[in-house]
Amino acid sequence: MSRKIRTRFAPSPTGPLHMGGVRTALYCYLFAKKNNGDFILRVEDTDQTRFVKGAEEYIIETLQWCGIKPNEGLSYGGDFGPYRQSERKDIYAKYAMDLLEKGDAYYAFDTPEELSAWRDNMKGQGNPSPKYDPITRQYLKNSLHLSEDEVSRRLKAGEPWVIRYKMPRNEEVKFEDEIRGIVSFQTNQLDDKVLLKSDGMPTYHLANVVDDHLMEITHVIRGEEWLPSTPLHVLLYRSFEWQMPSFAHLPLILKPDGKGKLSKRDGDRLGFPVFPLNWKDPSSGEASIGYKERGFLPDAFINMLAFLGWNPGTEQELFSLDKLIHTFSIERVGKSGARFDFEKTKWFNQQYIKNKSNEELVQLTAALFEKDGYQADQDTLLNICELVKERATFLHEIPSLAYYFFEEVKEYDEKNLRKKWKNENSDAFKQLLSSLSDLEDFKSEAIEKLVKDFMEKFSLGFGQVLPILRISITGTMQGPPIFAVMQVLGKTNCLNRLQKGVTLAKELQA
Ligand code: GLU
Repeated sequence: MSRKIRTRFAPSPTGPLHMGGVRTALYCYLFAKKNNGDFILRVEDTDQTRFVKGAEEYIIETLQWCGIKPNEGLSYGGDFGPYRQSERKDIYAKYAMDLLEKGDAYYAFDTPEELSAWRDNMKGQGNPSPKYDPITRQYLKNSLHLSEDEVSRRLKAGEPWVIRYKMPRNEEVKFEDEIRGIVSFQTNQLDDKVLLKSDGMPTYHLANVVDDHLMEITHVIRGEEWLPSTPLHVLLYRSFEWQMPSFAHLPLILKPDGKGKLSKRDGDRLGFPVFPLNWKDPSSGEASIGYKERGFLPDAFINMLAFLGWNPGTEQELFSLDKLIHTFSIERVGKSGARFDFEKTKWFNQQYIKNKSNEELVQLTAALFEKDGYQADQDTLLNICELVKERATFLHEIPSLAYYFFEEVKEYDEKNLRKKWKNENSDAFKQLLSSLSDLEDFKSEAIEKLVKDFMEKFSLGFGQVLPILRISITGTMQGPPIFAVMQVLGKTNCLNRLQKGVTLAKELQA
């Protein structure tokens, strides 16, 4: 029987999740769901020196906001826990010892000071990046080169040690990456990585491989930056004699100009968020705005992220999370970096706002309207959202796009008002005002019919009437269908505004 598909998102809580991290979580989630599998959230916090307060909560809140729901994991529970590596500390030592017994790992006693002196010395001799490897280990303090007695003396005396992986020489490590095909590395380019540290904590490599095995992960989907670690992981699976998961290394997310990896600094420089939610750095106090707070809808954010590296092979661009699950496949993830495009990101948001039901939009913007002191009954709000949603890129723009439903016109497009107004039409407009005032059924269609009849009667064209109406009622020539706006505003408001607009138009002629 084939194994149940299980993927995991394994962030380290070293700061806020970058949008690249969210994309990794998304792809892991989509792949698992597409294949009726499980998606797991595991926090890799073995490097306590890099732990940042609040980062773990940030990860959990981000996934919640995005609608990426783990089947198991930190704060979700499950049969393979604990899901925080610092709580699994006791598990890893046993596996490091197994490797020692198998002869694939060894004790190293070099202190950090000794290692740094050694490195300086090597650099002095012309080796710019000295590595602890099959050649250099001969000159260093480890159980492969010290005598057995010496090793047990040091161990008994409680001298600090680490356990390192014994990297084989002259081997080619090959594995098949689901995105890149066959990838191969020469072991001579690799070093003897530390697996277990002197404080008894595993390093990323050991904990990652052990946990992926114990948590029965079938597919490791992660960022390209982890590709250089994979040969060691492949060797660890071999040493442990464990079934290896499939690997898929996702392409980088590139700066908008395509030159290099997208960083927080690019966001600061070019004015877009790189984090999903607001973040305040606990040590520097520096605050960064998130996509959520900037006015992005989670479904738009997710849709945009899905397209950073993947495409469905069709022209379709709008995909809900459910549709993404249905359509996603690793085969359609590209190898080359995906260029981030903030304009496109905004376009996605605009589409999602436009496609939301009025009910949803009223709910989403209720607090925003309230903040501006704009009050109206539910039906009016529904109508307003229907009228302005086409024009909003961000939710917070909706109340300001709709301000003229709540306040008098603040600013008139005087240039066009002057241009479109003809004093000789004064009497006609007087007549229009009076017909509007007599109109009992002040509904969009009835208003439209009245205005058209009026134009016919006075032989006036659209260009002579509609701009005056529009500018008088809303201040501008753009905006939603004017007759629908008039219906929402109601007769009294419209008559007053039209009167005021005509007066202004005449003044401008003078
Ligand atoms: N802890 C690693 C990170 O911070 C996980 C890499 C992996 O998925 O193996 O991204």
